[in-house]
Amino acid sequence: MNILVTGTPGTGKTTLCQRLSEQLHLNYLHFGSYARNIPVLQDLWNEQIQCYDLDDEAENMIMDEMEPLMEQGRCIVEHHDARPFPERWFGLVIILRSSTEQLFDRLSSRHYSQEKVQENIQAEIFNICKEQAEESYSPSIILELQSNTLDDFNSNVDLIQQWLSSHQFQQ
Ligand code: ADP
Ligand code: MN
Repeated sequence: MNILVTGTPGTGKTTLCQRLSEQLHLNYLHFGSYARNIPVLQDLWNEQIQCYDLDDEAENMIMDEMEPLMEQGRCIVEHHDARPFPERWFGLVIILRSSTEQLFDRLSSRHYSQEKVQENIQAEIFNICKEQAEESYSPSIILELQSNTLDDFNSNVDLIQQWLSSHQFQQ
């Protein structure tokens, strides 16, 4: 089984993936980092918004690189968009949610432009990542978790471990 961690930028995907990959000995894959490592995709870097404008072809190149690892299982994948992946890859999809205040503080401290901060906060308010995940996966494998405080973080880690053991995931 593989796990997908999705959510608006700043909701805590990397933090959670790092903890879970250490604790459960999972292979952590960051979708955006794959783009960075594929030379032909560098033309798609958008300097203004500081991210890649990935088209379907580019996404497919990244997924071809990921495929062998996904076949092996025990991967935890971080990406803000749940739609590109084959449904069969994931046995658990985690959607992280954060308050406007938290996102504002976290994204501002990344030195994102005001425009990019606002864009991401709007996306969170309008449930964009949540809806994309719900379009793509069965509700029975989706966990939507609040990610505002350290307490949230710790209880999310516990809850995910409980979910995995009740779904026969070898820990
Ligand atoms: P993402 O990968 O979704 O962009 P990060 O994991 O990089 O998010 O987290 C963004 C910031 O928020 C980091 O400074 C991180 O330490 C902090 N953070 C993450 N999860 C929580 C949480 N549950 N409570 C408080 N701060 C958090
Ligand atoms: Mn991240």
